[in-house]
Amino acid sequence: MHLRGVILPEGEVRDIWVRDGSITFDPVPGAETLCRQGWIVPGLVDAHCHVGIRHGGGHEDRAGAVAQAESERAAGALLLRDAGSPIDTRFIDDHDELPRIIRAGRHIARPKRYIRELGIELDDERDLPEIVAEQARLGDGWVKIVGDWIDRSAGDLTPLWSDAILKEAIDAAHANGARVTAHVFGEDALPGLIGAGIDCLEHGTGLTDDAIEMMVAHGTALVPTLINIDTFPEIADKAGKFPVYAAHMRDLHRRVRGTVAAAHEAGVPLFAGTDAGGSIRHGRIADEIAALTGAGLSAHDALGAASWDARAWLGRPGIEDGAPADFVVYQQDPRIHPDTLTAPYAVVLRGRVYRTHDPVTGHR
Ligand SMILES: [Zn+2]
Repeated sequence: MHLRGVILPEGEVRDIWVRDGSITFDPVPGAETLCRQGWIVPGLVDAHCHVGIRHGGGHEDRAGAVAQAESERAAGALLLRDAGSPIDTRFIDDHDELPRIIRAGRHIARPKRYIRELGIELDDERDLPEIVAEQARLGDGWVKIVGDWIDRSAGDLTPLWSDAILKEAIDAAHANGARVTAHVFGEDALPGLIGAGIDCLEHGTGLTDDAIEMMVAHGTALVPTLINIDTFPEIADKAGKFPVYAAHMRDLHRRVRGTVAAAHEAGVPLFAGTDAGGSIRHGRIADEIAALTGAGLSAHDALGAASWDARAWLGRPGIEDGAPADFVVYQQDPRIHPDTLTAPYAVVLRGRVYRTHDPVTGHR
């Protein structure tokens, strides 16, 4: 297969070929041309989703997990960072037609301090380092802990763990070759998590200027999951028994675009994640890219946060000689025409072409 187009992020027109599932810059004799002009973008990344959590809640079965992965592929998301799943999705690795998944194992929480039946719940926080080490060995280089959640006795978000145990647990993950990330909504859990050397924060709606400064000093990344944060007002509506918590959630939501803009401006690495599974459907990476643009990222940076920058962060190549042929082709520049992100001309995964709309008429 042969393609000619503008390669991002470089922005140069060039010819590429695909042979045996890999990209090559050497002409392949007799190759069929897929496009003569277009924008060719390294496979998109949904850096926070949950293949295996059913829309509306609960565990997904295998067929449902496959359908979720297919929705991501149709949206051009060919690399998924699974931020905690209650089911074993290892079988997806045997499906060449499905996106690649980087797993974080199961969420690690405490009793009554996360969504029921999704995570491992520790009665004693002193078990955290051992469980983190175990999940580090089972996953694909990431461990997911729940950093804060509503404490019903306090009526508001509070941290799940002491600072000392976080430090021990994160050190244990690093010793096992894994990075650690945490679900965190509020302000109070942030200094303990960042100070303990956590590698990434999910949501991070409670980031203050001080916490952002700490992130920059520690090189901590942020996946803000903006389209999920937009469900905070609904969460608050259902939390009538906890007025302080409800008001807190509304306030975090009200400020989130400014919070993300401040983190970006300070130099915190930001990546696009939809938080699909549960309340958000899979396949919405274009909406998260648009949301990041709405939070002050340039169109180039927002696309990079869902493509080349996220791939580099996760140790995966872009469009390079010898790299796996995982890329998306658009008919217009997706940075100037973001709507084009919802209708890729072609999605190429492991060198195979998936078309989501009619190439002749341009209609879906
Ligand atoms: Zn999530």
